[in-house]
Amino acid sequence: MSDFAARLIFANGKTIEFDGPADITKEVTEAIVNAANSTLLGGGGVDAAIHHAGGPSILQECKRIVAKIGTLPAGKAVITTGGRLAAKYVVHTVGPVYRGGRDHEAETLASSYRASIEVADDHGIRSLAFPSISTGAYGYPIEKAAAIAVRTVAETLPACAHLQNIRFVLFDIITRNIYVTAAEKLSRLSPSTSVIFEKGHS
Ligand code: ADP
Repeated sequence: MSDFAARLIFANGKTIEFDGPADITKEVTEAIVNAANSTLLGGGGVDAAIHHAGGPSILQECKRIVAKIGTLPAGKAVITTGGRLAAKYVVHTVGPVYRGGRDHEAETLASSYRASIEVADDHGIRSLAFPSISTGAYGYPIEKAAAIAVRTVAETLPACAHLQNIRFVLFDIITRNIYVTAAEKLSRLSPSTSVIFEKGHS
């Protein structure tokens, strides 16, 4: 069983776990999500870490995708091999750059989570790990981003055909604690039978 600081359990047994401080490149979920940029050619932060750990086959596939569809707009997602990672696949999504909140950033961030889940589920994937999209170089305030991330995943996961478990793998303790607080809040506001919040052991 995987480590988690907290989790949400849904009536149909599906779970959302919150782990950290942890490195998503070490995850053993079937797929991990990359907070990429529109060029898909690699960048800083988690993007650089994933390409570094996964090796050149990920970038090769990203280049093929860009040759076919052009750059990837914010809010969309595509899937490649996981290369040398333990995860079989990497889902690449582009979050919004935060510009004060009046540029549809909330909708775009929710769309990044939804699109990533949809592409993973379409590939029959059962477990998926997310980093905290847009809260690094893209500057999204973490409390706001965490509330959107947790709500969107909680709304999207229950109806998926294949996905059973989604993990938030958060790089630092501050981010992890903010996500755990967002999850607890969501469970308090939900009808008592639909989702249970549980503290974990990491
Ligand atoms: P964005 O450009 O979408 O803001 P960043 O990569 O700059 O993406 O940051 C997104 C989040 O990913 C930040 O919270 C950052 O601390 C975190 N992060 C960086 N490296 C890793 C890693 N190896 N595993 C998990 N999260 C990471």
